[in-house]
Amino acid sequence: RIIIPPTMRSVILENLHHGHLGILKTQPCAKQDVYQPAINAYIQRICKKCPHCQNMQKA
Ligand SMILES: [Zn+2]
Repeated sequence: RIIIPPTMRSVILENLHHGHLGILKTQPCAKQDVYQPAINAYIQRICKKCPHCQNMQKA
């Protein structure tokens, strides 16, 4: 696992979110690869704003 410095946080989260897997699939991927406090909350916030992830969640 990698600890993300605050300056890199948005970049890493964008990369994790790139596949638009939705909240439930992005969170386990993130936990495998990186560590940061409250990463689930960040992922939820990003995915809730993203129309692609919303569609994936419904499917
Ligand atoms: Zn998305």
